[in-house]
Amino acid sequence: CGIVAYVGPKDAAPILLEGMQRLEYRGYDSAGIVVSNKGLKVRKAKGRVADLAKLVPASFKGKTGIGHTRWATHGVPSDVNAHPHLSSDERIAVVHNGIIENATELRNKLQADGVVFVSETDTEVLAHLLAATVDETSTLEEAVRLALKRVVGTYGIAVIDSQRPGEVVVARNGSPIVLGIGEKEMFAASDVAALVRYTRQVVHLEDGELAVLKADGFHTFASEGLETAKEPLTVDWDA
Ligand code: GLU
Repeated sequence: CGIVAYVGPKDAAPILLEGMQRLEYRGYDSAGIVVSNKGLKVRKAKGRVADLAKLVPASFKGKTGIGHTRWATHGVPSDVNAHPHLSSDERIAVVHNGIIENATELRNKLQADGVVFVSETDTEVLAHLLAATVDETSTLEEAVRLALKRVVGTYGIAVIDSQRPGEVVVARNGSPIVLGIGEKEMFAASDVAALVRYTRQVVHLEDGELAVLKADGFHTFASEGLETAKEPLTVDWDA
């Protein structure tokens, strides 16, 4: 349903939670966040963003993070099915809007390779596919690009890798993703409403595009891997 991502000099969690609250008008059944700080820290739960915020302690520090509000399509609304979903080694975390149509087929193949699933979601296959890809590529965006080649369906996703702190990769196919450009910080969201408190400079991804965000900027790529040139737009919005 809703995605928010942050990378920069500040603690991500309050920014993610605030952005997720701005997406509440879209409706959702559960919410979760993950931040990177010498490993991934996760909190997720069925219910409201305000309830999730109560589960996030002051010690929940990390300057790279992604958050999600879920509208369940595969698997009941529950704490376990809430996003983010992690790879079994807890290296990769992913949040996802949309529907993976070949999730059952991918799940069966991954299970045959010994992967143990913990949720009922279609999204969890993405975390395990990425875990299988991430050691074969020199960049996270290339791992995401290759993993998505095996996926049929709609997605807006955000991904972090605990071994690459300071990076977020996002991708879109049929579900919106917009980047927000800050001062030595970058944001992304499924809806510009989550960003306007922080920046008016945005870049909309096209279907098939992906992007890597770092504190000092971003790069966008087409599905075949070539870098694309994007002109930022200035949004006019009374926040
Ligand atoms: N299909 C995913 C799920 O059921 C994502 C749903 C959404 O867009 O929130 O978990």
